[in-house]
Amino acid sequence: MPSAANLTRAVAEHRSATVELADHAIHLDLTGAPDSTQSTFTSTSTITLVSSESSVEIDLVAVGEPQVELDGERARATYADSRVRVEGLTPGREHTVTITAQCVYGHTGEGLHRYHDPEDGETYLYTHFEPTDARRVFACFDQPDLKAPFRISVSAPTGWLVRSNAEAEHSASEGAVTTTDFAPTLPISTYIVCVIAGPYHLVEDEWVSDDGRRVPLSLMCRPAMASRLPSADLLRWTKAGLPWCEERFGREYPWGKYEQIFVPEYNIGAMENPGLVTFNERYLKRGDATRSEREALANTLLHEMAHMWFGDLVTMPWWDDLWLKESFADFIGTQASEEVTEFADAWVTFGLGRKMWAYSADQLPTTHPIVADIPDVEAARANFDGITYAKGASVLRQLVAYVGEDAFYAGVSAYFADHAFANASLTDFLTALSTASGRDMSAWAEAWLRTAGPDTLSVEGGELVRESLDWSADEPPAAPAARPHRLQVTSFSVTDDGWTPLDSEWIDVTDARTPLPNTGAVTLVDDHDWTYARIVPDAATFDALTGHLAALEPTNSRAVAWGQLWHACRDAHLPTQTFCRTVLAHIPAERSPAVVDGVCLKYVTAVTAYLPTTMRTEWGDALWHVARDAYTTALDGDLYDAFAQPTARLDLALAWRRVLTWAAGIAPTAQHEVRAMLDGPDGLFHPDADERWALLVSRAAHAGEHEVDDVRAELARELERDTTKRGIAQAIAVRAALATPQAKLTAWERTDDESLTNEEVASLVAGLTHPASVHCAQSVDLQARYLDSLERWWNGRSQVIASKLARGLFGVVTDAGAAQAWLDAHVEAPGALRRIVVEEVDQLRRAERARENASAAASV
Ligand SMILES: [Zn+2]
Repeated sequence: MPSAANLTRAVAEHRSATVELADHAIHLDLTGAPDSTQSTFTSTSTITLVSSESSVEIDLVAVGEPQVELDGERARATYADSRVRVEGLTPGREHTVTITAQCVYGHTGEGLHRYHDPEDGETYLYTHFEPTDARRVFACFDQPDLKAPFRISVSAPTGWLVRSNAEAEHSASEGAVTTTDFAPTLPISTYIVCVIAGPYHLVEDEWVSDDGRRVPLSLMCRPAMASRLPSADLLRWTKAGLPWCEERFGREYPWGKYEQIFVPEYNIGAMENPGLVTFNERYLKRGDATRSEREALANTLLHEMAHMWFGDLVTMPWWDDLWLKESFADFIGTQASEEVTEFADAWVTFGLGRKMWAYSADQLPTTHPIVADIPDVEAARANFDGITYAKGASVLRQLVAYVGEDAFYAGVSAYFADHAFANASLTDFLTALSTASGRDMSAWAEAWLRTAGPDTLSVEGGELVRESLDWSADEPPAAPAARPHRLQVTSFSVTDDGWTPLDSEWIDVTDARTPLPNTGAVTLVDDHDWTYARIVPDAATFDALTGHLAALEPTNSRAVAWGQLWHACRDAHLPTQTFCRTVLAHIPAERSPAVVDGVCLKYVTAVTAYLPTTMRTEWGDALWHVARDAYTTALDGDLYDAFAQPTARLDLALAWRRVLTWAAGIAPTAQHEVRAMLDGPDGLFHPDADERWALLVSRAAHAGEHEVDDVRAELARELERDTTKRGIAQAIAVRAALATPQAKLTAWERTDDESLTNEEVASLVAGLTHPASVHCAQSVDLQARYLDSLERWWNGRSQVIASKLARGLFGVVTDAGAAQAWLDAHVEAPGALRRIVVEEVDQLRRAERARENASAAASV
């Protein structure tokens, strides 16, 4: 994959001030795609524009020299630094620029990704452009505020399914080649243009609105995954989501058809291309999906649907306001899940999952305000983070509590009405909201959107004490932002018989100290999870939580309490083993699958990162034993009256089954059982293809020197059993996970292998840094090689791949000081690369503090 030059906000702003687009026609010749010896395709891009200057610079990442014509004549043009500079325009006059180039078929999920399927011998293509990879497929102004109607035309092998954002208008076959011309799109940004091509499997349906509008629907995936496509669920959620969005947003679905496709080797969860949403094929499980996995799919589907309005219809001018679309989509994805799908406790899942992602990103030295300063697209790419998505969504939830639901959606509707098919910024959104709510939102926005870090709300002597820090600064700010919080506080009497709520009140936190309703010894703050803050309970509440958590109702409050304990563990206020002991004591009685897997994932992190090595075996094994018992109990089911419904019991058993596969990675004494499961049929359960790979990776990481040959033989058998590309990628993880210095060295050599796909790189990284065998990497000093490689990766590979390597392989670093020394010596290194190292050093130091805390507690 050729590396692409950075694109700055300054360049983008200059272009949007000087260029106006009238039309953009694109032809892609993909007829050679099935031939893997052909590395490029011909792309022709015809842009009709008016410029106020005599030259324009158009983005393009291609090989060789592009051919450039101006109004049909050969143009004066140069091509350098991923831009074509075209001279000779008459300012103010309409021109047509045609650029024909050889663009590269990608294998890293960026631009036009090509997937050769080893099973059926077929080729599958899809595009992914956000933020600036459209320029890898056609010459364009690759920035969100130069919208155009796109007229796309694709030549591909006859018989392929070819789709784009708009409906096909015309299609003509000449023997083996079929050319499809799509209708012009409504005005859209480049990053959401999409083309898919290949012999994909197709399911068609339609949604008919109450007023009789027909929206064609389709689902697509590779034929090999067709039996794993949950069509009924996907169509049900789609048909429930569309009218919900239309009503809430006050505007009809704008894009004609609504197609959704699952594609292989995808870097992210999904992408909101108007009329043609792309999903990561990993959402399709090769066995039974757990409830949380199904919920994640529903949530993603609704997240992308929200983008059809927020992001696609009204778009941020530049990536500074990326949060505006992502926070909103994350909020709507969860809110709509709760209201229109079977996942009525979607905010519980959010609280234990995505919201924790937000808190951890927000406590890093690189944290930033929700409204970020994004000088270039490298910085934009680095900002698809927990703050932009999940903190923003949490803050929108708090906003709804603050202004009320009616005012919130009235503001949203006005915003769409005012800015449809154009670009709009935070100020525009706040203006709409202020009008709808009748309140000036500027102080609220200043406090919540333009400051970094979580507030801390601590219960002290009958008061709630608010502390605001700027986590990105070394010193506390002189005048910390005074964020208002609106939340509920519930007090309880707690005995061995359970929790008796005494009083629950809404309170507004506007000052540094807020008196609490004084009715009980145990006080849960924000037990319905309305706000975004680190909550520190008092000692009596901590004791009640560690002693009686399983009996706390409802589920939402239990999830919030688990989150508060997890904060305390991460911040080294609670010894890691106390957190782990609380999990082992209370999670077996848990009936919510979302809480089971949410909490157990944290337990796995606690063991691998926050416990000293000498204590990991004991606590790792303990989770295995608890999970095994809970799994068999859930299958028997008789103990749970609440689970008269067999599906609920099965959901719980499946959640525990997933926990078992995670626990296998940290439980050394479980490995004989892992092997029995792989050998079957007498193991604990019959693992599906994906579970088999996870278990085999654990086997490899725990195998002693004398077992290495056995594992290699098992790997060879597994590869005969699973001949998919997913299997081939997983085999890389197994080899890299083997617990020998030689295996680590051999795997390390592959970090420079540019033929690896994005998915193979991810597997390589996961295997190399497997917590059970990473010590072998340390024994051959991969830390030094890692630090030496960082700049080479960054300069030589695409940002997606370089980031996977730089972030993932930090696991071989044991000495935070050495990594800090690299930072000190590389002040001039690219900002997005430094950001990864700064964050990982901080995570390592946080882990060291937690380990010291655990050791100290153990020696008392
Ligand atoms: Zn999104």
